[in-house]
Amino acid sequence: MKTILLLEDNDERIAGFKSAVRELGEDWQLHIWHDAPTMIAECENCFDDVHLISLDHDLDPQPGATFDPGTGLEVAKLLAGHFPICPVIIHSTNADRAWSMHNELRFAGWTVDRVGPIGDDWIRKLWLPKVREMLGQLPRSEFFQRSSDHSERMQRALLSLEGLAIGDAIGEMLAYRHADAARIIERGLPAGPWFHTDDTEMALSIVDTLKLYGHIHQDELARRFAWRFEREPDRGYGSMTRKQMNEITRGGDWRQGATSAFGSQGSMGNGGAMRVAPLGAYFANDLSRAVEQARASSLVTHTHPEGVAGTIAIAIAAAKAWQLREADSAERVVRLFEAVLEHTPESKVRRGLLIASQTPTTVPVEAVAKALGNGTLVTAPDTVPFAVWCAANHLDNYTEAITLTISAGGDCDTNAAIVGGIVALSVGRERIPAEWRKEKEPLLLIPNA
Ligand SMILES: [Mg+2]
Repeated sequence: MKTILLLEDNDERIAGFKSAVRELGEDWQLHIWHDAPTMIAECENCFDDVHLISLDHDLDPQPGATFDPGTGLEVAKLLAGHFPICPVIIHSTNADRAWSMHNELRFAGWTVDRVGPIGDDWIRKLWLPKVREMLGQLPRSEFFQRSSDHSERMQRALLSLEGLAIGDAIGEMLAYRHADAARIIERGLPAGPWFHTDDTEMALSIVDTLKLYGHIHQDELARRFAWRFEREPDRGYGSMTRKQMNEITRGGDWRQGATSAFGSQGSMGNGGAMRVAPLGAYFANDLSRAVEQARASSLVTHTHPEGVAGTIAIAIAAAKAWQLREADSAERVVRLFEAVLEHTPESKVRRGLLIASQTPTTVPVEAVAKALGNGTLVTAPDTVPFAVWCAANHLDNYTEAITLTISAGGDCDTNAAIVGGIVALSVGRERIPAEWRKEKEPLLLIPNA
């Protein structure tokens, strides 16, 4: 059913909206909320079918309600955090606030118009023609591709995200003590909250986007990256990413920022790879889709073929870690590398992965880091082969995987984020230390999508 989302507290008006929507046809329906907090909590669940949103501003409490009904402006602010998905009509008599809502949405790129609730039968005479006009202007594109197993996919993505975030936080904490990592972890880490860095912030945006759209909608992903960056810029972002995020925040096109990076070569940094494991988890049942979606996620910031190759390699490693979670441990090292090599495009990253695949688990990690790189250069070729080696050889022990990865130094938070995001998928949540899960700062996802 084509759906109009309505925020309206007045019963008489609601009856008017219902009868107007009947005139649009039998395939139209209204989804009505009487208060802003409930609409904010629930409306993202309805985005799949939404064709138009109509918002009041001033809301009276419903009979018997014990909470503040909020205002339409609060809903407009929530919508402004999203990529525009449909036209919005503001039908409030409160002119000042109606313009505030209008501004919130306009600045966020939404198509928005006002209808003044004036005169008799304004819903049929003014609102309904405006609805027809706006729907005609804007044929709705198909943004949403959530499949029937979306919630299982999300469970996997969230598991990977948790593994990633814990790795990131511990890696950051021990970056300057990496040589002592094993001893410090053995004795017990200091109490939390353990703060994560840019790796987790950007992975959260990927998970947010998948949660809502079921695929990498690149405009939405760029917007969510920038939104999180603007809220908390001091999460250790690299200078090129900071520049790109600032440009997006100022209204620039992410395509421009991504392709013009580093004298138009595009970035080959490890930033695409560091955040992508949850995406591999989400598409774990379909490796070619994982490749295509990993590439799409990389291109928002990292367009250099090495940056893209590193992103694809980690997505496949994560997907494969899930697929092989019950396989014999010697067998799965081989099969994980086979899949990663099969899907990663020819590149320095892939050549490093080939060496990694031939490096036995008995080689000391310092020697492996020396041969493959450990992220000191913060590039994908310097990071990804080492991280995949650490993960593939420790798929059955999250603690060991993280400890070993950090002990080799280099880009500790990113290395451990990548390894954590992969290994979590093979060990499962129960085998990530409970204390680590508890001490890690909470992850803020968009509500209820
Ligand atoms: Mg970081």
